[in-house]
Amino acid sequence: MSYIEPAPIKDKENPFESMMSRFHIASQALGLDDEIYEVLKSPTKQVTVNLPVTMDNGSIRVFEGHRVVHSNILGPSKGGVRYDMGVNIDEVKALAAWMTWKCAVVDIPYGGAKGGIKCNPREMSQGEIERLTRAYTQSMNEIFGPDRDIPAPDMGTGPNEMAWMMDEYSKSKGMTVNAVVTGKPLVLGGSLGRTEATGRGVMISALAAMEKTKMNPFEARCAIQGFGNVGSWAAKLLGERGVKIVAISDVSGAYYNDQGIDIAEAIEYRDKNNKSLEGLPGAEKIEGSELLLLDVDVLIPAAMEDVITKHNADKIKAKLIVEGANGPTSYKADSILHEKGIIAVPDILANAGGVTVSYFEWVQNRLGYKWTRERVNRRSDRIMKTAFNNVFETSKEYDVSLRIAAYIVAIKKVSQTYKYRGGF
Ligand code: NAD
Repeated sequence: MSYIEPAPIKDKENPFESMMSRFHIASQALGLDDEIYEVLKSPTKQVTVNLPVTMDNGSIRVFEGHRVVHSNILGPSKGGVRYDMGVNIDEVKALAAWMTWKCAVVDIPYGGAKGGIKCNPREMSQGEIERLTRAYTQSMNEIFGPDRDIPAPDMGTGPNEMAWMMDEYSKSKGMTVNAVVTGKPLVLGGSLGRTEATGRGVMISALAAMEKTKMNPFEARCAIQGFGNVGSWAAKLLGERGVKIVAISDVSGAYYNDQGIDIAEAIEYRDKNNKSLEGLPGAEKIEGSELLLLDVDVLIPAAMEDVITKHNADKIKAKLIVEGANGPTSYKADSILHEKGIIAVPDILANAGGVTVSYFEWVQNRLGYKWTRERVNRRSDRIMKTAFNNVFETSKEYDVSLRIAAYIVAIKKVSQTYKYRGGF
């Protein structure tokens, strides 16, 4: 192997550089050919567009948008579209690669992609966002397609944007093509079970990891950072299976009760309290950063990236970390956790329940049929369990962490498929 060393990690650890470093390590463990390494490292296609949009006051503003298809080796590429002022092509490229590995780990027939528009949706009217979304979709007419590239929501986008994308794309084709995007409203062909899918996958991964480490869920104590879609669903579903949730948090702070927090009540409180846990009754308020260091068995970071770093990893007491968020653990923290014997179920496995049910949405759209919630849950649970076992066995076979094993599983699958398909 004669790889070029990956770019040095700067002191402020960047989640995308972290991801590339792990890709590099897994490629080495796997003995991947240099040529295939180069193929998988670089995106297949990247497009940048400038979109003139008429604002409500009659002026015209030009927005920069991107779509990067990292890989379409396993099938049509899949990945969200982000509306945020921080969007830039390098980040979109890295997020697209991330999607390739995530889809491959759970063995769904998709490649990876990501898109983004540099804008601040909070400062725009509904009409302005709609016109921007339609302009972006038009400009991606040759990229998007149910058999080519399938967008989904990400930071700053949701069911409304997906409905406009589906409509604009359909108009250009002269027919309804609802399988071109996922994350649509239910009435437009969205899937039952999508809302809870990521949290549910986190629950399945956590229970599978507990089983392997002989941890009894009925005796386990758990802390969860972030009480949004992923965190609150993971808390609810784990709580229902006997796990004691002793701490939860959101931007307002962290809330602790040694005897356990009633999650159904906390969700009800948050929904009535302007989506905030501030003032949660029956729990002591503690510092947000303290939650990560509590004496618990299971820690679930489900808020944001880069929260477990070289600065706090040695103080973590949990035995098991299950990554609901994308990129919560930095590359430099990996070895510290490993030395302490802490097992981390990596993001590309633990939070892949979301993309799995997005895949089911696409399947249902193509069948012209709707599955029950039970069928969606049963099938996604099965996919998550199989993926966990596969990663676990790989970690034993190669004597590596679950994280590197997940990358090995993904890289192996994509590279083997590439070899069969062949290049030029
Ligand atoms: P969300 O916006 O619904 O919730 C985020 C939660 O994190 C909120 O409770 C917010 O208050 C909290 N939070 C933000 N900053 C915090 C901080 N500094 N400390 C503590 N809490 C903080 O988002 P989500 O959809 O639940 O996504 C959470 C994470 O999971 C993100 O990293 C996202 O990329 C990842 N993810 C989400 C999905 C999905 O299907 N929603 C799928 C895969 C990965």
